[in-house]
Amino acid sequence: MLDIIQLLPDSVANQIAAGEVIQRPASAVKELLENAIDAGGSKIRLILKDAGKTFIQVIDDGSGMSALDARLCFERHATSKIRSADDLFTLHTMGFRGEALASIAAISQVELKTKRGNDEIGTQVFLEGSEVISQQPIACNDGTSITVKNLFYNVPARRNFLKSNPVETRHIIDEFTRVALAYPQIAFSLNHNDTTVYDLRSGNLRQRIAAVFGVIYNERLVPVEEETSIVKLEGFVGKPEFAKKMRGEQFFFVNNRFVKDGYLNHAVFAAFESMIPKDCYPSYFIKINIDPAKIDVNIHPTKTEIKFEDEKSIYAIMRAAVKRALGKFSVAPTIDFEQEISFDIPLEKMDERPVAPTIKITPGYNPFLPEKENDNMQRVSWKPVLDRSKVEQWHQLHREIENSSINNLQGELHQKESLTVEGLSESLFTQLYRQYILVNSIPVAMIIDQQKAHERILYERFNGSSTEKNVSQQQLFPQPLDFSLDETALINELLPELQHMGFDLSPFGATTFVLHGAPEEVMVGTEKVLLHSILNQYMHHRENLKLPTKENLAIAIARQLSIKEGKALSGREMKTLVNDLLNCENPNYSPSGKLIILKLGNDAISKMFNAS
Ligand code: ADP
Ligand code: MG
Repeated sequence: MLDIIQLLPDSVANQIAAGEVIQRPASAVKELLENAIDAGGSKIRLILKDAGKTFIQVIDDGSGMSALDARLCFERHATSKIRSADDLFTLHTMGFRGEALASIAAISQVELKTKRGNDEIGTQVFLEGSEVISQQPIACNDGTSITVKNLFYNVPARRNFLKSNPVETRHIIDEFTRVALAYPQIAFSLNHNDTTVYDLRSGNLRQRIAAVFGVIYNERLVPVEEETSIVKLEGFVGKPEFAKKMRGEQFFFVNNRFVKDGYLNHAVFAAFESMIPKDCYPSYFIKINIDPAKIDVNIHPTKTEIKFEDEKSIYAIMRAAVKRALGKFSVAPTIDFEQEISFDIPLEKMDERPVAPTIKITPGYNPFLPEKENDNMQRVSWKPVLDRSKVEQWHQLHREIENSSINNLQGELHQKESLTVEGLSESLFTQLYRQYILVNSIPVAMIIDQQKAHERILYERFNGSSTEKNVSQQQLFPQPLDFSLDETALINELLPELQHMGFDLSPFGATTFVLHGAPEEVMVGTEKVLLHSILNQYMHHRENLKLPTKENLAIAIARQLSIKEGKALSGREMKTLVNDLLNCENPNYSPSGKLIILKLGNDAISKMFNAS
């Protein structure tokens, strides 16, 4: 019998290992950017074509490599960054596994050009599928340029697995953004298909955030600073009123590396406590500097998760620091932050959330909390329109009815045809607390949540197969709308659905679209804000719910376009709304599963009276 075990050739071993490190163009981008940073670059350029699928180039002005290193760096476990396993625990640089370049070279066509500052001449190396095709001296700039062409050209299974260009572009933008935020002192640029997407000058973190997310962020940020013996925190949190209904701008950087950390995320949320509604997420950009010996960075292959030795203390410090930052900001909301550092707060007041006299509304008011907890905020100037305790009573009533064994009306409500308001006079519709519609209908009176009802109606319309209603859109004066690159990517992805749903958008330049028409509910002048909100909510849901695209988009649009609580409605409007609701496939529950109709049968009411 023959022996059957064979050693895999290096090229095959490299290809297999590459799968772990390089899953998509964005992973290659991340590794190349990290190497450029480690090399001490002060200006780093990223150039892409076709979402990085055919072309990725990173150019830095860092240390460069010798002719021998230019060849060695593509060997597996070739690294200048560690000498022994112990080094892993004290490492400050980004890379440490010595396998990124070997992996990239195994699955693409690579060109490296590099020159050290003191060398007369540089080196050029070509590789294809781990094999060196050529190496020669070349005249080039100080620093390194690595070009990666046709990623996965020799691994068709992986190549076919890649997502559409907009999706892959978004992954790249995510990585680029993380790195750019971690190193605001380094200038970065991103060029995609010959269009400059970002051109970020060297600056501080606040300037970098504004450059990446928009200048508007400048006034939304509250500085967070804390230095203790175990950890140093610095960065910003977004003011509570700018919290969003989606996860998005949540960034922790541990020793300048982006990490995801659910536990610390919770610490930040805890600091915001009752300042933002339950379903909103605050933004934060916080750098955590800590002795590398006190963390284990190596537990996750793509290195976005880490483990802290003393995570409980770090949690407590994080929470206190953010809380204090928010406290300071409430005292002096209008004072320029650069000066605010010298603003003195008596120590015993540090943890109180003081009254901000200039605020007219109370954006942080949380209707889901008991009155007492919101007290502090309400005192500012806001009088609740709705009597919450009454609403709570209605809910209580409803629960009683639901639980009641004599509630034999339930069956009738599920038969749509038995419930109609068509013959009713408009004057039978009463609005309660500008939030509910009371209908004295037969055989059962109803209380209907106006916003949820409208969401259901819109949702069924936008999710339906008929385009009839959506086509009857208002004709707009065609207006160009600019979007960020990731929004652009998303719009391109959703364009057919958006058009189907009545947003008549057509591409116009790199990140611009022209809007020709919109669904009738869209108020003129709000189109852009609305589209932003829809995209935001869509992304948020996509991460969390994994719904089919159309359904997810319909939910987002319905939510954004629905009439809100607090809106006064005429008798006619209420009747139309209720009528439309009762004509829905599923009138009882909102798209997110909340009850819409509360039924008040006579039997159930009398039972409640008799029970008391
Ligand atoms: P690691 O970064 O983990 O060391 P890599 O495969 O990413 O592994 O890189 C291998 C080595 O190649 C690095 O340790 C470094 O010495 C060298 N290198 C890679 N990119 C650059 C660059 N842009 N400038 C200078 N040297 C580089
Ligand atoms: Mg590296």
